[in-house]
Amino acid sequence: MKNSEAHGQKIRAAVLREKGGPLKIESLELEGPRDDEVLVRIVATGICRTDIDFCDDWDGTAKPVVLGHEGAGVVVQVGKRVKSVDRGDHVILSYQSCGRCRQCLSGHPWACRHFYEANFGFKRLDGSNALQRSGVHGHFFGQSSFATHSVATERNIIRVPQDLHLEILSPLGCGIQTGAGTVMNSLAVSEGASIAIFGTGAVGLAAVMAARIVGASPIIGVDFNPTRLELALELGATHIINNSQDDIASRISEITGSGVDYVLEITGNPRMLQLAIDVLNPQGTVALLTGTSGSDSLPEDRKTISVIQGDAVPQRFIPKLIALYQAGLFPFDRLVKFYDFSEINQAIADAKRGDTIKPVLLLSEE
Ligand SMILES: [Zn+2]
Ligand SMILES: [Zn+2]
Repeated sequence: MKNSEAHGQKIRAAVLREKGGPLKIESLELEGPRDDEVLVRIVATGICRTDIDFCDDWDGTAKPVVLGHEGAGVVVQVGKRVKSVDRGDHVILSYQSCGRCRQCLSGHPWACRHFYEANFGFKRLDGSNALQRSGVHGHFFGQSSFATHSVATERNIIRVPQDLHLEILSPLGCGIQTGAGTVMNSLAVSEGASIAIFGTGAVGLAAVMAARIVGASPIIGVDFNPTRLELALELGATHIINNSQDDIASRISEITGSGVDYVLEITGNPRMLQLAIDVLNPQGTVALLTGTSGSDSLPEDRKTISVIQGDAVPQRFIPKLIALYQAGLFPFDRLVKFYDFSEINQAIADAKRGDTIKPVLLLSEE
C-alpha cells in the first residue's frame, strides 16, 4: 500500500529540553511521510556516543530536540515516490545524505557536501520539520529514532532479512558500521598488517572484529576499562594494554618490535592522538574517529585521516556485516544490553560509566 497523505500521527518520543538531560518521554505529533519519505515504526534503537555528547552539549531549552540515530523497525507507510521498500519490510536506519551533490552522485554519501545539515540540522534539507506542530525538532541523522515512529528516506534506510531480530540489528546503522568500515573501507587493512585500537567501546570492538576478519596481526586493544579489554580479547584482539597500568608506547614496541601500521583513535583525548602518531610505523595511518581533521604532513609518509561512518554506503555495507554475523564471524550482539524505552536515562548513565558497551532501547508496539 502506498500512501502519501501528510496527516499527522501521535507518537511518543524522548525529548531533550535541558542541557545534560534528562530526556523526557512525551506525546508528539509527527507529520508525513512525504512523497519521498518512509514512516517506520521503531522496534529498537541503539544509543551512540554522539547521542550522549549531544545531550551534554545541546541547549534543549532554546531548541528541544529528539535524538537517536540507530533505529530499527517496520515500514508502516511509504510515500508515492518510494521504490526500494514497502509496507511490512524490516529496515534499519543509518546516516542521512543529500543525494544530489557530486560526492553523493559518485557513490560517496559519507562525504556528502550537506552532511552536517542532513544529520545535525534537526530539519529536512528544505528547512521543514515533521515535528513542527509539537514545537520540537526532529530529523537527527534523518531519523530521530528515540521515538515510537520515525520518518526516513530511501537514502538512509536499509532493508534487512525478516528472520533476524531487529533488536539486535539496530546498532549496525552507526557505531558498528563506523568501526568495521574504518578497518575494511577507509584503511583497507590487509592481512598481516599491525593495528592498534585506542578505545574499545562499541566502535572499537567492531573494529577489533573487522581486523580479525581481514587477518590483521597483531591486533592491539587499548583501554582503561578491564571488562572491555577482556571482551576485546574474546572478539579478536591478540594483545591488550590497560592504559591505566601500562605505558602504551613501550608495550607496543615490545609486542611488534617496532610500531604499528594503523591506529584507530576513538578516545578523543589529545594525549592519545599524539601517542597514536608516535607509535606509527613509516607510511602508517592514524584514523581519527573523533571529528578531528587529518594531516598528511607527518615525517616518513605517515598521515592522519578523519573518518566519517567508515566510508560506508549503508545499503551495501550493512548487508555485508549481516552476512558476516550470520556466518558467526562478526558477533556484534555480544556488545548489546537491552533496556526498555522508559529506562533511556539509565541506559545513557550506564554507557557513560562504561558499564554498558552498546545500550539498545526496546519500544513496545503501539
Ligand atoms: Zn550529498
Ligand atoms: Zn553514532
